[in-house]
Amino acid sequence: MTRPTTPTLGLVVPVHNEEGVLPQLLDTLGSLEVGVSLTVLFVDDGSTDRTLAILEEACRQDTRMACLSLSRNFGQETAVAAGLQHARGDVIAVLDADLQDPPALLGTFIEKWREGYDVVYGIRTNRKESWGLRTAFKSFYWLLSKVTRTSIPRDTGNFGVIDRRLVDLINAMPEHNRFFRGLRGWVGFKQLGIRYERPARQAGKPSYNLSRYSRLAADAILSFSSAPLRIASWTGALAALVGFGYLVYILSLYLSGETLPPGWASLIVLVLFLGGIQLIVLGIIGEYISRIFDEVKHRPLFVTRTAVGWLADTDS
Ligand code: UDP
Ligand code: MG
Repeated sequence: MTRPTTPTLGLVVPVHNEEGVLPQLLDTLGSLEVGVSLTVLFVDDGSTDRTLAILEEACRQDTRMACLSLSRNFGQETAVAAGLQHARGDVIAVLDADLQDPPALLGTFIEKWREGYDVVYGIRTNRKESWGLRTAFKSFYWLLSKVTRTSIPRDTGNFGVIDRRLVDLINAMPEHNRFFRGLRGWVGFKQLGIRYERPARQAGKPSYNLSRYSRLAADAILSFSSAPLRIASWTGALAALVGFGYLVYILSLYLSGETLPPGWASLIVLVLFLGGIQLIVLGIIGEYISRIFDEVKHRPLFVTRTAVGWLADTDS
């Protein structure tokens, strides 16, 4: 794909309660040089601290910056989706607000994009999270790679640049469970991962805890794979087979003239076992149905409250 000679870069930054790190972020972005002209779009994801006020002030000062604020907290993936829909530029970058995604790397990403890659994303070489979280992440990526055929590279985040054409394709996708890394992998074209050391967050607290990560993991797996449904059927089949084997065993005992034990215990065990399997299967089916439900409601992905900066001028 040919690239424009003077391309523009659009930065998308989802922000949720980041007042502590914002001064540093604004400083870094304000003086960022990546060899192309750039605009920044902050998406305030229903912050309850001074984040929005700080961002709006920054957008009034710097004409390259804009801030879109959502009506409540919709979650990082939706904030990114909102950003992608409104961002301007021949190439779009997605970046965390807490400076865990070093903006200086964008220069390298853009170079690779100019060489012809459509997606250039960062791969984290070291993780600064606790041992428990790291193990959880590792298991998640392992599981994800096993259950889906969409290539979703390990140890990547949203951090990366993506060509305008692919952004338009992703924006046109109607689904509500938007796992950006998954969608980005799904569109294909030429993709390249670049390794980098992920620093610890510069200030503030992460908005993600184990339960939110688990939800994200479930979304990722259930939106990109029907393997759990298959696991359910296989487990069910296995349980049925065990039950059948047991029946044959009892029959053979009976036929060989043995007096059968009262059988209460085994009966109860079987009932519980099968009941358990049935509940698991129902649960998995329920997960998919709830996702179908989410999709058929056709609600908008997000609701915007205000737009400040270049976005306000261009959208009105
Ligand atoms: N974020 C968001 N909405 C949320 C949670 C997080 O927009 O509901 C933003 C947050 O401000 C940050 C990015 O998403 O810019 C990543 O969040 P965090 O640092 O908490 O996650 P982690 O670094 O652990 O992936
Ligand atoms: Mg972070």
